[in-house]
Amino acid sequence: MSDVVENAPALSARHLVKTFDVSAPWLNRVVERKPRQFLQAVNDITFTVPLGGCLSLVGESGCGKSTVARLVTGLHRPTSGQLRFAPGRSGTPLSAQMIFQDPYASLNPRWRVKNIVAEPLRELKLRDTPREIFERVDELLRTVGLSASDGDKFPHEFSGGQRQRISIARALASEPEFLVCDEPTSALDVSVQAQVLNLMRRLQDELGLTYLFISHDMSVVRHMSDRIVVMYLGRIVEEGDTEELFAQPRHPYTQLLLKTIPNIEQPNRDRVVARGEVPSPLKPPSGCAFHPRCPHATPRCSAELPELRVLDNGTRVACHLVDAT
Ligand code: SF4
Repeated sequence: MSDVVENAPALSARHLVKTFDVSAPWLNRVVERKPRQFLQAVNDITFTVPLGGCLSLVGESGCGKSTVARLVTGLHRPTSGQLRFAPGRSGTPLSAQMIFQDPYASLNPRWRVKNIVAEPLRELKLRDTPREIFERVDELLRTVGLSASDGDKFPHEFSGGQRQRISIARALASEPEFLVCDEPTSALDVSVQAQVLNLMRRLQDELGLTYLFISHDMSVVRHMSDRIVVMYLGRIVEEGDTEELFAQPRHPYTQLLLKTIPNIEQPNRDRVVARGEVPSPLKPPSGCAFHPRCPHATPRCSAELPELRVLDNGTRVACHLVDAT
């Protein structure tokens, strides 16, 4: 893992809430006598990302992790709560960039790669002359494992893994200190995933980057993270140091996620199939939202929302079962 600067958060999120109005159009509501509908995508979450570290948000589709990514990069505004980059740091604010899941959709197909990577350099006036701009583009392409001559090609001439390398070069062009990576390898083959993840780890060490990493895949987040936040239906259910969370997952949902990881060394091992579907975030279950799927649920679980408690080892967990032990 990278050397994390203790006690120096790159990002602090406090009681973050994001609610979307997903109501039908006004006329339909009046005719069909339907009330307005709200979706609570992120529900009172608090976390910090340490400077130079990697915090991963993990959970199934609909847990709110991608909404958090969009809040952090300013694509959405929080309904309430606070997001602060490098709180306490004076001088220029910390700069953030985002790497998306689908590298092809995020690259302009009509532009040559050198112009795609050069765009932030021009926009932000980071180099003075065209020659300096293209020298920097060549350097960035080599940094991500491509060659300078690749700059003359178009995105469709590359494989998925190479396109994600181009996205990373483009993100690095604006010299960010903080990268928000939203499922950056989930569209890639497993062998290519490992190459891109290794590249991201190397860049983090060499450039001192901070990552907020979003994934549904526990094996990917294990490879990348110093700490992991597990989300379920908009709330944090567990947060802990990566090794501890894998060695001793406390929340039944984290335990379920770990049991469903495919084992590359034992592909024939019996994998536990995730029990039940994620309920609709429009109508989350009462109490602990995981109770319809939880093998340990008690009557208290459907009646009372478990508090996110800090354990002795710094792990945070929201489960009545852990409360009782
Ligand atoms: Fe399961 Fe109850 Fe814990 Fe929720 S609070 S995870 S339902 S035991």
